[in-house]
Amino acid sequence: MKKYEIAKSISKLMIKGLKIVRPQAGTSLPGHFMTKVCPEFIKTESQKIKNKTFCVTGTNGKTTTSGFIAAILDETGERVLHNKKGANMPQGIATCFLQNSEKPIDYCVLECDEAWLFSLYKSLKSDYLTVTNLFPDQTERYGGVYSLAEKIKKAIDLNPDLKVILNANDPHLLPLETNNTVFYGVGTVQNNIEELNYIPEICTCGEELKYTKRFYAHIGEFKCPKCKNQSRNAKYVGNIILNDDYTEVIVNNKYTFKTNLTGLYNAYNLLAAVSTALEAGISSDIIQRGLDKYKNVFGRIDKFQINEKNVIIQLIKNPVGTNQAIKLIKDITPSKLFVLLNDTPADGSDISWLYDTDFEYFKDYKSEVILSGTKANELALRFKHAGLKEEQFFIEPNVKKAYKHAIKATSKEETLLILANFTTLAELKDIMKK
Ligand SMILES: [Zn+2]
Repeated sequence: MKKYEIAKSISKLMIKGLKIVRPQAGTSLPGHFMTKVCPEFIKTESQKIKNKTFCVTGTNGKTTTSGFIAAILDETGERVLHNKKGANMPQGIATCFLQNSEKPIDYCVLECDEAWLFSLYKSLKSDYLTVTNLFPDQTERYGGVYSLAEKIKKAIDLNPDLKVILNANDPHLLPLETNNTVFYGVGTVQNNIEELNYIPEICTCGEELKYTKRFYAHIGEFKCPKCKNQSRNAKYVGNIILNDDYTEVIVNNKYTFKTNLTGLYNAYNLLAAVSTALEAGISSDIIQRGLDKYKNVFGRIDKFQINEKNVIIQLIKNPVGTNQAIKLIKDITPSKLFVLLNDTPADGSDISWLYDTDFEYFKDYKSEVILSGTKANELALRFKHAGLKEEQFFIEPNVKKAYKHAIKATSKEETLLILANFTTLAELKDIMKK
């Protein structure tokens, strides 16, 4: 026990030290140290949770979905622990426990990286697991979407009483179904923007899935003509109305929930969070109050002003999220476009996903496009393929220089749209703070 307390004190000092050295960065270093010295740390701390533990995983939307759930639980008046800085691997989660280890915790809401859930569940007992979706994202790391599903299923099997809350519209989640699973799904979508082209979706048996409704990417109502795979009946059915500056989701024709986040993928996030909260017995009034309080996390469609110029910033990391973002942005019609891409290990070195992304939406775009990051030239090539002209490009791999140019080039009447991947966004954040 003595070793445990000493390690905890050292880790906490590390947190304080890092706050001074790198104030913007959420870090997993103290958690890494703590779990190295005391591998039972997460287990010990999580046993102190008085009420329920909620985990959220999936390729897209886990930050927003877990953010919604935490905001809803917060409205119950109980104390909620939530790894909201997005440090979603076990060491980051350990840091989060360290930061809160002296306070009583009622509810725990954890966003968890899909590839790390098994590792987390070896030390943490969870009551609810909400899965948003699985996309073939960063496949070099995960080795295919179905092997990833298998890995999540193994994690689920470590928790015999776990209630699993799944997106009924995602065929990739079918392998996760247990005896204790409920599904949420979308019934109808008003004002959805059709995608340009769909990639055929292949069932686990090798047959092409047939869709009666397809909302985006491989998400929809599907059925395999050969085997039994088909979208499950949802306990929570959301009818979605997409408006310009807010989104409504009517659940089971009974409750209407609203959020000022826009776009279909946020409607799905809301539906996932609301279904989880209803399943946990939270009242619809409290749910709506929580949704109202939820503040968007930096980088996920943020609108603000810099030097009196309108700026919209969006994190891009894979084709689906980017396509959804582009759809939203198309309605806004940006005056200047600023796209940044790095290929560091944190971003993933495979950038072939750029070619699964509908940058063709910008083909009639006539204004300047500022391209930056280590992969600025590859971005230029991609935009050229999309039909834009080389004369439109301002290529500057240095993020700071490119940012200065972008702000200068945007007039007060214009809107600067920034699309940035993970590490370029972090760089931008630092530059903007200064
Ligand atoms: Zn099949």
